[in-house]
Amino acid sequence: MSDVSKTLHLPKPALRNSGWQRSILHLDLDTFFVSVERQMDSRLEGQPLLIGGTGDRGVVASCSYEARKFGVHSGMSMKMARAMCPEATVIRGNSMAYSKQSDVVTEIVREAVPVCEKSSIDEFYADLSGMDRFFGCWQFSRELRERVIQESGLPISVGLSTSKTVAKVATGEAKPNNARQVSRGTERHFLAPLSIRKIPMVGAETYRTLRNLGISTILTLQNMPVELIQQVLGKNGVAIWKKAHGLDESPVVAYNERKSISTERTFAKDTTDGEKLHAIILAMAENLAFQLRRGDKLTACVTVKVRYADFSTKSMQRRIPYTAADHHLVPIVKDLLEQLLNKRVRVRLIGVRYSHLVGGGCQINLFDDTEERVKLYQALDRIRVQYGDRSVVRAAGLEARTIGRANPFNGGPPPLLAHRHQ
Ligand SMILES: [Mg+2]
Repeated sequence: MSDVSKTLHLPKPALRNSGWQRSILHLDLDTFFVSVERQMDSRLEGQPLLIGGTGDRGVVASCSYEARKFGVHSGMSMKMARAMCPEATVIRGNSMAYSKQSDVVTEIVREAVPVCEKSSIDEFYADLSGMDRFFGCWQFSRELRERVIQESGLPISVGLSTSKTVAKVATGEAKPNNARQVSRGTERHFLAPLSIRKIPMVGAETYRTLRNLGISTILTLQNMPVELIQQVLGKNGVAIWKKAHGLDESPVVAYNERKSISTERTFAKDTTDGEKLHAIILAMAENLAFQLRRGDKLTACVTVKVRYADFSTKSMQRRIPYTAADHHLVPIVKDLLEQLLNKRVRVRLIGVRYSHLVGGGCQINLFDDTEERVKLYQALDRIRVQYGDRSVVRAAGLEARTIGRANPFNGGPPPLLAHRHQ
């Protein structure tokens, strides 16, 4: 009981009117992959479309509204989707084209708004607070939407409200290809009749739990005491309860192309052993890729750095389509290293960086992947979560460990298996 009473007061301060009004705009391209495909081939207009891995073992990454009518959804096996919608055109995803169009839209939005967060390849938040004095935010939002459509040729929906959560739900209600405003004071009323599934935080598991309690609309959640939801869902319950009331103070975080993750390694003894360097950089590339997936991030730029014994440093970078998949990233990292290595000069340090990060949408890794490959990634990542980043490496990475033992770097084991035997 004491636990519950302690948290009883938690959400209440947030319910008070803070007097601070935010205007948050959410923008979401409609069936983005499908729209880009239709832009490239207008014959696909109005047709049921399935995009993803095209083999029987592939997975649906995205599908058109026409295909959704047949019960198809993303994440489903391509085989099942084809069976449910035999007349659908099946297209293997083209991440290069989608990344390019994503960049086009990013530029348009970023130029227009004071603070822009690119939350995924096809989704943005903008903080328009304070713009009211000069323009109406709602008018501005609709004009921005029109501009994106005109300049990119892609349909996009937008939602304007006082928080990220309500703005995103508003976009969902506006879809397809429309705009929706939920003004201050009407957030709760707007949310009330909607399914709890519309709350951005509610995933399949939470949805089931709440449904089992007989909760299906947000209104029911709104009318429940917060401590009850907390008892069932723990800390998440409080957050979900707040969202059900339209309360979300999370800020719009500016998207920065330099946002990156990186790792580097200095050798105790300078080396010219190319095989060893390749094995080590492979392990680094895989571990960073895992960190991307764990953070639900994609990268669009790979940089490899080499510092030589004379302290001169060279680096090379390559723009790539958004990905978080080892089999896309590793060959690029190895290729960049290959180009940087000067066989006769000893190497002091190597490093890898993934930048231009955006959140969300692991579907983009599904285009050429079989269900097995997707499951393999998931299984490897689960082990990594459970036993530490360095518990899984591929055979080529293991070589580095052996080599590392024979020629210890920095007096210790190489980084890739550091936790395994501790
Ligand atoms: Mg979208």
